[in-house]
Amino acid sequence: MTDFVEIVDVGPRDGLQSQSALLDIDTKLEFIDCLIDAGVRRIEAASFVNPKRVPQMADVDELVSRLQKRKGVQYIGLVLNRRGFDRAMRSGIDQINCTTVASETFCQRNQGSSVGAMFGTIAEIVREAQAAKQFVGVTIAASFGCPFEGEISPHRVAKMARQFADLGVDEIALADTIGVAVPTDVSRLLDLVLPEVEKIPLRVHFHNTRSNGVANAYAAIQAGIRIVDASCGGVGGCPFAPGATGNVATEDILYMLDRMGVETGISIEKVIETAKWLEGPLGAPVPAMVSRAGLFPPGAAA
Ligand code: MG
Repeated sequence: MTDFVEIVDVGPRDGLQSQSALLDIDTKLEFIDCLIDAGVRRIEAASFVNPKRVPQMADVDELVSRLQKRKGVQYIGLVLNRRGFDRAMRSGIDQINCTTVASETFCQRNQGSSVGAMFGTIAEIVREAQAAKQFVGVTIAASFGCPFEGEISPHRVAKMARQFADLGVDEIALADTIGVAVPTDVSRLLDLVLPEVEKIPLRVHFHNTRSNGVANAYAAIQAGIRIVDASCGGVGGCPFAPGATGNVATEDILYMLDRMGVETGISIEKVIETAKWLEGPLGAPVPAMVSRAGLFPPGAAA
């Protein structure tokens, strides 16, 4: 394989939002700068959520205003509702990512809205974003399973993806928010979703909760996906999904891709350095396997 996979590092948002340690803005900006220095070009930097619900994101308006414009670097901000969208537009963030959920119960808990009402909100947001020439994507959370309802029909997810594709969004992401998928689930869902979204880029987001994160990313890449979320150090979770743990680690994905000969433009050595640095502000070791084990063959920088 001589191919390119884009890694979106979601550490500064998905990674940090569920940590008990609250990082100040300067530390978050340092984290983001380290990722850019490592070669990451898309970073999920913010979530425009109610600060009472997610205190880790309370400072995002100021954080985004202080993000440095860097050539080729795009910052992504998550929005869960209309108010979040208005804040995101005011902030000037490069890319907006709307989130909805594949199941009713989780949608209600995560967004305070039904799936149907959420679609209406997103349709309105997408129209306004398009009028403003603002990049807007949609994530379908819990695409592989819901912490409250259990199995999610892949046909249901494919139908939702089709509806968002019909809105003409810039990107659609499928998220295994609670880390339940195995690689065959990924292949099966992508077989159904890819024909529905046609030319719209599809992105995948895996959590390592049940240790299938890297395997799922591999299955997605084999199915033709070229945009994969990961978080430096594998930090992460979801404040509204019981038992949710880390995102698949950027360095764990990079180790696989590097040895497969797939280009990412990212230095694994620098990601490992960043993960080790991040343990300081977090006050805890990061879960990434490769940051613990080091690179191979022996003598490779780590
Ligand atoms: Mg996540």
